[in-house]
Amino acid sequence: MTGPSLLPTVRPRTTIRAGRRTRGAATEAVIEGVEVSTDHWIGGQRAGSPEAFPDVSPIDGAVIAEVARGGSAEVDSAVRAARDASAVWGSTKPSERAAVLHRIADGVEANVERLAAVETRDNGSLLRSMRRSVMPRVARNFRFFADHLLELDGRREHEGFSERISWGPSGVAAVVTPWNAPLMLATWRFAPALAAGNTVVLKPPEWAPLTASVFADIAREAGLPDGAFNVVQGIGEEAGAALVAHPDVDRIAFTGSVATGRLVAAAAGANLTPVSLELGGKSPFVAFADADLDAAVRQAVYQYDNAGQVCLAGTRLLVEERVYDVFLERFLEAAGALRQGDPREEVTDVGPQITREHFERVDGFVRRAKADGAKAILGGGPNEELGGLYYRPTLFVDPPPGSEILTQEVFGPVLTLQRFSGEDQAVELANATDYGLAAIVYTGDPDRAARVSERLIAGTVWVNCFFVRDLAAPFGGARNSGIGREGGTWSFDFHADVKNVCIAPWGKE
Ligand code: NAD
Repeated sequence: MTGPSLLPTVRPRTTIRAGRRTRGAATEAVIEGVEVSTDHWIGGQRAGSPEAFPDVSPIDGAVIAEVARGGSAEVDSAVRAARDASAVWGSTKPSERAAVLHRIADGVEANVERLAAVETRDNGSLLRSMRRSVMPRVARNFRFFADHLLELDGRREHEGFSERISWGPSGVAAVVTPWNAPLMLATWRFAPALAAGNTVVLKPPEWAPLTASVFADIAREAGLPDGAFNVVQGIGEEAGAALVAHPDVDRIAFTGSVATGRLVAAAAGANLTPVSLELGGKSPFVAFADADLDAAVRQAVYQYDNAGQVCLAGTRLLVEERVYDVFLERFLEAAGALRQGDPREEVTDVGPQITREHFERVDGFVRRAKADGAKAILGGGPNEELGGLYYRPTLFVDPPPGSEILTQEVFGPVLTLQRFSGEDQAVELANATDYGLAAIVYTGDPDRAARVSERLIAGTVWVNCFFVRDLAAPFGGARNSGIGREGGTWSFDFHADVKNVCIAPWGKE
């Protein structure tokens, strides 16, 4: 492991409410050699809870930590700490805020190995991806919004009047995020909040809660004031629900499933708290006959990345009739070469599912798809050799139109393949879900790319590429895939209190 030790000298455990003694419970776990606090982080202090929940590694089913199980009392403390800190952080000069965010990015970069090791053990994602792309992106989230903050220019002229647009802090941001890339997704939501001068209460996912805790140490060492960033660990229905319903929260940034998104939106509605929802997907992957077929097949197989636990994944492969057979043949060859196993091994391409519950959910989709008449031409069940939570990359062909496997998000290594004839049918099939997060199109014809992209219902359309993320560009979902857009200006406009001061020409009032 590289990088300096970021662990705090273990401070005396803080009790959250008078009369609740938490001393004696475990406060730390050692994950792949990295010491990680399993407590909350509230107002710059570690804080415990009387109860804990087990954190199970998907790699081998081991309980790797007992994590503090927060509820409304802990959420209340964290929101109060964040509110207190917003006077300090919100009035910190933009240049100083940006400097702290850059130092956080430095700290993340210095600790990529530690963060990657903890995250992989915690959620079973490939270690090689964590090291090379995901954790470096965590750092970039901070650098980007630090720079964006300093580039804001709200000066305008309108019919002789001058306007001064400003992006002030809105107060306390509640951030609730999922487990499939927990730290990267969380920082994508709260880096802009911090840049805008807001303070943050993060509720990490209970299935992969640990890197949030490591991050808290990095942020403290980077000079983020106490209380500007808080972590309340816990279960979604407890800590998460208490946080999004808290009346003293000014923004809610939620990433997760559609079902939870509805609950979060309802809670936000009760307090009229602005909410941004990044939800699930069932994205189409459309390959036309004029495409570079090898490139399309390579990218199609990549949709099994993170064992299919990717919101953006193009899980519905739609291939033009004329090249369907050759596409399928090449796909099966390439997918057959994928290596499944321990995600810590450099050679592994496909790791485990996150939990037994999720594994059973994925398996339920596969069983019902078979019962509906879809044919599993690849995989179609658990990896019996490996056991545990390893599910075989699966491809269904000819699923009945409108069937569950074509319309509902599986969030596992399960793709479907359908054929189409011509642009109209491609677009009709591609748009045939209630989701609209992303779409992928492979074609050799720029005019077709433009025509089809315009007709696809999706927040992002990738043409002859996938997963290219410009942090300045808008990102988000159409239809049930979300509310709002994030990225650059869009994130800032959501988190900030945007104000326009309109000034008449002096001396002519
Ligand atoms: P989830 O909705 O079950 O949980 C997400 C978070 O919400 C977790 O932290 C959970 O503890 C919390 N939560 C659960 N119930 C809550 C409640 N009642 N109130 C407040 N918070 C609550 O989703 P998941 O299983 O963790 O993640 C998978 C889902 O996330 C998939 O649908 C995936 O597509 C989606 N996702 C979307 C994006 C995106 O950017 N659009 C990115 C990643 C994942």
